Amino acid sequence: CGIIACRGTTGAADYLMAGLKRLEYRGYDSAGIAVTAQDGSTAVFRTTNRVDSLQTLTNSWEGPELGDAGIGHTRWATHGGVSVANAHPHQDCNQRLSVVHNGIIENADVLRKELSRTGHGFASEVDSEVIGHLLEEAMAHSGDLRQAVDQSVHRLTGSWAFVALDTVTGRVVASAHRSPLLVAQSTEGSFFASDISALTDWVDEFRILGDGDTVELADELIWLHAGVRSPAPDPVSCPPRRQ
Ligand code: GLU
Repeated sequence: CGIIACRGTTGAADYLMAGLKRLEYRGYDSAGIAVTAQDGSTAVFRTTNRVDSLQTLTNSWEGPELGDAGIGHTRWATHGGVSVANAHPHQDCNQRLSVVHNGIIENADVLRKELSRTGHGFASEVDSEVIGHLLEEAMAHSGDLRQAVDQSVHRLTGSWAFVALDTVTGRVVASAHRSPLLVAQSTEGSFFASDISALTDWVDEFRILGDGDTVELADELIWLHAGVRSPAPDPVSCPPRRQ
């Protein structure tokens, strides 16, 4: 239902929470974030309550200090009931990768069976969870998140805007197909969001991902279309800021 992600922003959790509050108007049944932590792990917080409850959860975190890359999601369930286990972000078996997804993976059941046969265990009933496991398989070959996304999207059918976070490198990569996603940069960092209202406090312009686009958040955006490095599309100006 709603996605926000950021990289290079000190205190990523604050940006994610602020963005999720801005996305609340779209309606949702669960919310969650995953943020890199100083000890090299990723902290995941999820709730079936309001974004305020998620804020309370993150505020009471007593683990290692949270870092500067993260992803966030508000869910409108399509596959699997409303529960914390089904809330995004979802992770791969090793908890190296975290993924948020909007849309529907139509061949999720087939992929789940295939992935189960190669030893993947699933922690939810959600179609989206297959994405993290597909990426995990691809990462086993290349160790490169962008390449893994690029290889894995060919195995998906349906609609998606998803963002994956790699705990080990802090890399953040997104891909879109028939579901909205935009990317924006400013002195405060680089961001993905499904709706510009999540970002207007920190950015002046944004770029819209087209179907088949894969983008990595970096100082200079790395933009691929159908697997081929392409120039980023022209930016669009944000609506005037609220006073
Ligand atoms: N199909 C996914 C789910 O059921 C994503 C739904 C969404 O777009 O929020 O969790």
